[in-house]
Amino acid sequence: MKLGVDIGGTTVKGALLDGLHFLREREAPTRGREGREAILTSLFSVLDALLEGGEKVEKIGVSSAGNIDPYRGICVYATDNLRGWTGMDIKGVLESRYRVPVQADNDAVCALKGELLFCPGKRNVTMLTFGTGVGGASLVDGEIVRGACFDGARWGHVTLVEGGRQCSCGKRGCAESYLSATALLARGRETIPALKSAKQLFGLYAEGNAAAGEVLREFGVYLNRLLDIIRAEVRPECILLGGGMAQSEEIILSLIEKKTDIAFARLKNRAGIVGACL
Ligand SMILES: [Zn+2]
Repeated sequence: MKLGVDIGGTTVKGALLDGLHFLREREAPTRGREGREAILTSLFSVLDALLEGGEKVEKIGVSSAGNIDPYRGICVYATDNLRGWTGMDIKGVLESRYRVPVQADNDAVCALKGELLFCPGKRNVTMLTFGTGVGGASLVDGEIVRGACFDGARWGHVTLVEGGRQCSCGKRGCAESYLSATALLARGRETIPALKSAKQLFGLYAEGNAAAGEVLREFGVYLNRLLDIIRAEVRPECILLGGGMAQSEEIILSLIEKKTDIAFARLKNRAGIVGACL
């Protein structure tokens, strides 16, 4: 049996898996903006709860936002969505606490690995995750592309708008500052001040709300721009959309101009957990 855990900007989700069968699932708020200790407390609470049944666990797989060095299991860089996570020795801390081998990787890379179970034979696939931040990973010619600094998250930080909105990574105009749930909520509040979440914005759009329509059509323009950059750079057979926001499948698809190479994550928000276990 394996434990898989997915550390996102908003929620830590974990599961105990027997093969690909989910035996138990737990989650907790990440409290990522409160710093490293808060994130670790959430992570431990999820793992401890999963271990309550006393099953023998052989390995723990960790999927985490940020740039993760999969060989050392260390977070090389994370934005303030996971404050203080940069430099975090995920593998070391969890191995000393739980006494089983631990592997860690970027969350989009893990989600891609999970989803590849459903893409047999495909050698060029890109996965994008839309949540608190925007993550991305690409399989190119059968290999998962890793930048010099294990930058699995690079699609979230490609420039969509020169000199555009300030991004949490320090640059301007990144995809994440237009296409994350955080960015969409901030943009939505400019015209709908009482807006509570990106999910609510999608709900208003479905009801025909004009202000929500304007915000989401603008979101669509940026989304199509990102998809075109990816098509030009890595020529994927298929671009998979996942993460919390991608659950509004019909609306997202209606905003996309070229739909033939677009598919939605089959494992929904469990893709990272499955990929972490793989
Ligand atoms: Zn950025």
